Amino acid sequence: TTREWQAADAAHFLHPFTDFQALSRKGARVIERAENIYLWDTEGHKILDAMSGLWCVNVGYGQQALVDAATAQLKQLPFYNAFFQTATPPAIELAELLAEVTPPQFQHVFFSGSGSEGNDTVVRMVRRYWDLLGQPERQVIISRDNAYHGSTMAGASLGGMSGMHAQGGLPIPGIVHIGQPYWHEHGKGLSRDEFGLVAARWLEAKILELGPERVAAFIGEPIQGAGGVIIPPATYWPEVQRICDQYGILLVSDEVICGFGRTGRWFGCETMGTRPDLMTFAKGVTSGYVPLGGVMVGERIAKVLIEKGGEFNHGYTYSGHPVACAVALANIKLMRELKLVEHVRDDVGPYLASQFATLRDHPLVADAESCGLMGAILLAKDKATGTPFPESVEIGMVCRGHCFREGLIMRAVGDRMIIAPPLVITRQQIDEMMGLIRRCLDLTLADAKA
Ligand code: PLP
Repeated sequence: TTREWQAADAAHFLHPFTDFQALSRKGARVIERAENIYLWDTEGHKILDAMSGLWCVNVGYGQQALVDAATAQLKQLPFYNAFFQTATPPAIELAELLAEVTPPQFQHVFFSGSGSEGNDTVVRMVRRYWDLLGQPERQVIISRDNAYHGSTMAGASLGGMSGMHAQGGLPIPGIVHIGQPYWHEHGKGLSRDEFGLVAARWLEAKILELGPERVAAFIGEPIQGAGGVIIPPATYWPEVQRICDQYGILLVSDEVICGFGRTGRWFGCETMGTRPDLMTFAKGVTSGYVPLGGVMVGERIAKVLIEKGGEFNHGYTYSGHPVACAVALANIKLMRELKLVEHVRDDVGPYLASQFATLRDHPLVADAESCGLMGAILLAKDKATGTPFPESVEIGMVCRGHCFREGLIMRAVGDRMIIAPPLVITRQQIDEMMGLIRRCLDLTLADAKA
């Protein structure tokens, strides 16, 4: 029974990013099956998953092609590694296919088991690159406040979440942060486009403060996901690219969320118009069916690593895991077959944007915006002035509670309610989701008034 699951869970399972005491008081919601964009819990409730699990189930749940690929590979060869000059066919085939679907500067991949490990790889790889070029003093990586790049020591250090830094004495040396391009936080009095340039130039100011000869790379998510789906102004990324080019600094695009169609192009950097030197990915590469991550390595770096490098003393047991790679191959082929990137770019992405725009009429909503299939709704006490609710109200958590009860999974990040539904979602399902969102906003409003 659900109670038994909850009791065993509270007794033994330390959940990630969870208040252990709150969990044991309330009991976990136990999810036991899924199909398409819907989940069912052990109480039989049907839930529309507007978060694709954790931003990963891009092709939706229950895709037989992925199950078949995993089963066949488990029978044929469940594991072999890629260390010491060995390889497996699925890993080789996936490397080749990734070179095809990613922007042309990417012809090589380094596999990891997760996005966090991918970002750890980035830290070591950029430092190695500058070492090999005889510039070992180029050590510093610049990132942004409120970024999320994973939970390992390097990943959490690259991230800009103060709550994470506070636990474990982070960031590690050599990682510094600038402000995030969040207009509602920093941009008042400026147009969005003016603010985009201002925010990008914080990078230039930091480079000049540190001395360009000490800076190795800049890392960013094309759209910050876990930070609250912060969609930067259109002027931001082109200016960041100009600055990186001017000072010869490597640009790293963390595509763990934005990759594999989320923004309506294969990769977020294509939507934002940048040419990164490195690109981390995970999640959508397998639609989350099995764990896999990695780093796409641009030719500027690959050439140096290969020609000057010798051995790169880095790698994971599961780098290029054959079952994960087989599932990724099936996933990418299915995305192509279903034309999912085009579906997001030309159909459901613009449709979601048009529906989100209508939410701005709601008395609680100060802003609602989306890009592809990522969206955020900003809740405010006074929408005209943008005055937020006091933190003690925890308005996002109130709204999330209503979503839970009404059969909708949305995530709350402070006062931002965010969505990233599976890319297979239809217009009709977007209408269903919007109906649920409006209902939950109304219930939240009633609570806020009470
Ligand atoms: N980078 C970004 C942008 C992410 O959103 C995440 C996870 O949400 C990560 C990295 C870390 O990936 P993982 O949880 O697979 O380690």
